[in-house]
Amino acid sequence: METMTSTGKKAAQSMELENKYGAHNYHPLPVVLERGEGVYVWDVDGKQYFDFLSAYSAVNQGHCHPKIINALTTQAQKLTLTSRAFYNDSLGEYEKFITEYFGYDKVLPMNTGAEAVETAIKLCRKWAYQKKGIAENMAKIITCEGNFHGRTTTIVSFSSDPDSKNGFGPYTPGFEQIPYNDINALKKALEDKNIAGFLVEPIQGEAGVVVPDAGYLSTAAELCKKANVLFIADEVQTGISRTGRLLAVNHENVKPDMLILGKALSGGVYPISAVLASDEIMLCIKPGEHGSTFGGNPLAAKIAIAALEVVHDEKLSENAAAMGELFRSELKKIKSDRVETIRGKGLLNAIVIKPKNGKGAWDVCLALRDNGLLAKPTHEHIIRFAPPLVINKEQILEAADIIKRTIEGLDK
Ligand code: PLP
Repeated sequence: METMTSTGKKAAQSMELENKYGAHNYHPLPVVLERGEGVYVWDVDGKQYFDFLSAYSAVNQGHCHPKIINALTTQAQKLTLTSRAFYNDSLGEYEKFITEYFGYDKVLPMNTGAEAVETAIKLCRKWAYQKKGIAENMAKIITCEGNFHGRTTTIVSFSSDPDSKNGFGPYTPGFEQIPYNDINALKKALEDKNIAGFLVEPIQGEAGVVVPDAGYLSTAAELCKKANVLFIADEVQTGISRTGRLLAVNHENVKPDMLILGKALSGGVYPISAVLASDEIMLCIKPGEHGSTFGGNPLAAKIAIAALEVVHDEKLSENAAAMGELFRSELKKIKSDRVETIRGKGLLNAIVIKPKNGKGAWDVCLALRDNGLLAKPTHEHIIRFAPPLVINKEQILEAADIIKRTIEGLDK
């Protein structure tokens, strides 16, 4: 089933090594990459591709952005890690910068998205016991069906995806699941006085770019406020300009009580994540109660400042909004009954593919690769298209043309 275009010996060797010595917890598209710049990546045989995955939206600023790489290399030669046992001269600067950037009192720096989600869960529980007055060990957090918040044992405990969850029990209690984009279900769930938080993705990325109805997020935030429940937005994938606004919640003028960021907070060069919140919430955690050896290290601090400056200076939200509109309007011109739906916001988009003649989304991605564009199916029939946000009009038109020719060409 897997035809290979990376036919060179080097590509075959790299794939063989990963297969033989690496755990089989991923099923990569057969292409072996060795270089990236802006919206492009190159394989070991020198073939150039549009990167329409952007490392699951971690590379919003484009591959190897010179300003971010400069921040990385400059700081790497000075001081990389001190742990939080001591102060360092970069963390405070970063904390001031990011809290002002997003409009929060305080930040708690971590590394991966899943760690930031775990941090938000812990903060929410502490707040529930210290501030809301919920009895010890009784706090519950509402989550949504179809969610993806990471891979830890607690996070998969409230996943509805059998691949993520099954066989990893026993599961962490304290989570209630409701359908996504269902205000009545949320209203009902909020009647329980032990609810402390509502954890939600403003657009469900891994579920296949599922965009809720207009008004869902703002109504949900209002309901949470009335019920004295924390509205916790997981913007690990949707944040940092991906959907055409700095945050996806900005489309509905919502300010989450807790904001979870990751991925593009580093421009894709290094794992950096964060939780932002008010003093009231953040100061519920005291020294020794939470932390991470690498969280808030000086290297990460300098990289994140540079990554956020690029987002602002290069107007990536505005570009994502404009290029996203253009991209979707071009995709709508595809003449093929394989295309069931085209959806998305900004530059987080997806096509739902109808399988035909035994060929589904995976085969479309193989053909796209052959034609010079990399994307990956999420679930069986959905292809997510999320290029770096630095993409320009000419590149969007060229990429949309590749997608159009590829899908239409499948039946010729
Ligand atoms: N939250 C969301 C919404 C995500 O999309 C992801 C990753 O795809 C995560 C959390 C987990 O991030 P990480 O893989 O860095 O742990």
